[in-house]
Amino acid sequence: MTTSAQVISGKVISEAVKAELRDEIAQVIAQGITPGLAVVIVGENPASQVYVRNKAKTCLQLGMHSEIHELPESTSQEELLAKVTALNNDANIHGILIQLPLPKHINESLVLDAISPDKDVDGFHPMQVGNMVIGNRSYLPCTPAGVMEMLKRSNITIAGKHAVVVGRSNIVGKPVAMLLLREHATVTICHSKTPDLGAITRQADILVVAIGRAEAINAEHIKPGAIVIDVGINRTEDGRLVGDVDYQSVLEVAGGITPVPGGVGPMTITMLMKNTLDAARTIHQLS
Ligand code: NDP
Repeated sequence: MTTSAQVISGKVISEAVKAELRDEIAQVIAQGITPGLAVVIVGENPASQVYVRNKAKTCLQLGMHSEIHELPESTSQEELLAKVTALNNDANIHGILIQLPLPKHINESLVLDAISPDKDVDGFHPMQVGNMVIGNRSYLPCTPAGVMEMLKRSNITIAGKHAVVVGRSNIVGKPVAMLLLREHATVTICHSKTPDLGAITRQADILVVAIGRAEAINAEHIKPGAIVIDVGINRTEDGRLVGDVDYQSVLEVAGGITPVPGGVGPMTITMLMKNTLDAARTIHQLS
């Protein structure tokens, strides 16, 4: 008899988190501060434009202030840095997000490093990353934080479990591995140079996949009963949105699995809202 995994819905969990945030934001507003997020987008990448609009929409739904700063593709690095400085000094703005990717003529890390660490709600500033690694208070990068929130709210035990992370990017793989370690998992990180990936993923009690390859991880990579978190978002040639995990085959083997769409994606935006609220509280020293 085949069994089917528990579906871990980011859609459902993110709605629960947003309901809590709405109440917390109302309390901060009652103290005279409206948390504000500024999103800066350079150029006209259609996917980025959709992400930016969704972020602004979610801010407004939760009662926060939101600004979108749309700059032309021809914007120089100096002009973008001047925009970041202006937002760093803007009292109505508590969180600044630079939508990536930036045009090739702009040095991405130079721009990200220019964001005041107080307002770095993406959690990409080296100071935030350093604080996360040593366990100090910091804004956690949104996607990894969303993964952790899903695990916790699904009552999945992390301590003592073997967590395998496939992917080692600075925005997903490395920070998610660090957060799992912080919660006392034994963590293995795999990447494109890992020989015999399946031999390692089959040891995972918790498997987090963030590689950007459509449906690359299938049932043969999975230990029966494992929890599988699929961070990937890929568009197939026939226009479908799929993860890095072959959902249908893994559903039959895993103990729990996140769908795509409706899995990690909605959690990422929600954690951005949480970071912006935290930033407003920190900047204004509110409880
Ligand atoms: P990157 O391209 O920056 O990193 C991919 C990582 O996967 C690299 O470390 C690479 O290894 C590794 N990798 C690639 N192919 C393989 C393979 N065949 N076997 C093992 N490892 C492999 O991607 P991101 O981390 O930025 O994103 C990963 C996925 O997550 C993408 O689909 C992206 O769209 C999605 N994403 C989703 C978000 C959400 O909100 N749900 C947010 C951010 C990203 P190496 O380092 O050796 O090159």
